[in-house]
Amino acid sequence: PFDMLIIGGGPAGASAAIYGARKGIRTGIVAERFGGQVQDTMGIENFISVKYTEGPKLAASLEEHVKSYNVDIINGQKAVALKKKEFVEVELESGAVLRSKTVILSTGARWRNVGIPGEMEFKNKGVAYCPHCDGPLYKGKNVAVIGGGNSGIEAAIDLAGIVNHVTVLEFMPTLKADAVLQESLFKLPNVTVLTNVQTKEITGTNKVDGITYVERDTGIEKHLDLQGVFVQIGLVPNTDWLRDIVECNNFGEIIVDPHGATNIPGVFAAGDCTNTPYKQIIIAMGSGATAALGAFDYLIRN
Ligand code: FAD
Repeated sequence: PFDMLIIGGGPAGASAAIYGARKGIRTGIVAERFGGQVQDTMGIENFISVKYTEGPKLAASLEEHVKSYNVDIINGQKAVALKKKEFVEVELESGAVLRSKTVILSTGARWRNVGIPGEMEFKNKGVAYCPHCDGPLYKGKNVAVIGGGNSGIEAAIDLAGIVNHVTVLEFMPTLKADAVLQESLFKLPNVTVLTNVQTKEITGTNKVDGITYVERDTGIEKHLDLQGVFVQIGLVPNTDWLRDIVECNNFGEIIVDPHGATNIPGVFAAGDCTNTPYKQIIIAMGSGATAALGAFDYLIRN
């Protein structure tokens, strides 16, 4: 069996693998797609100590760094089940079963898409999902935020300090965000809130130039000229196959303690698939290191 088996090859998993391997223990990593969300990212400006990089470049460096250690990389494979027996057993889609003394779950998350025309076409060309990452690119411009829940309103408040103007579009008749957030939002001079509207299309030629929506009570279609659309309708953790096995919160995020431990002895978790409050590359890497050290501590005690 492995000493440490990592499921997920994003920043959290790569970091855990390096920390594991550096302890001289038998380490493996299973990844459906090595690099994770970083593969889908254009410019990265907040990976501290690197002023600017691009997703595929960072993903390649992650893989190169992991490969420089003695780590078994099982790429292009999906884990589908986990059982705790004498060892932790992880079943892959291929039917293979891997056994390990400790497992680190780092399967990440995905942004929920609105699924309207223009969204896929203009991803990274005006359609964005992460205000911490891409907000500064829209300095002085007009943007929309789709979604009036907590993340949408937090994004709108954050963006209002950077961009020229923010329009929030919410499908329901009222915003769903906490009252304190709404209070802060309504104090801002450069924010417009549209409720009870259905977004129809993100328009543009080679980049976003606007958004079309329908007022649900009147049926009237309207268009706004703007340069950016932030989609904020939820981040979904990739934990569907784990929810009945490992303790998760209401969002499906794996609950971890400060050592990265889950409720199952020997099973740890890190990165965007956990209940860590902020989802960023640097945070995922830190939590991967924590989980690996937590798992190593567990190994030497058991
Ligand atoms: P992920 O990167 O999601 O990696 C998950 C890994 O698990 C992948 O290898 C995946 O294939 C694998 N996996 C999932 N399920 C299974 C399974 N069942 N079996 C096997 N493998 C599985 N953050 C920043 O700090 N700065 C930025 O500028 C930035 N820009 C972003 C732009 C975009 C478009 C997106 C989508 C995200 C951005 N982020 C940014 C967020 C950042 O990418 C994530 O916080 C980070 O990648 C999380 O790392 P992770 O390792 O937890 O998960």
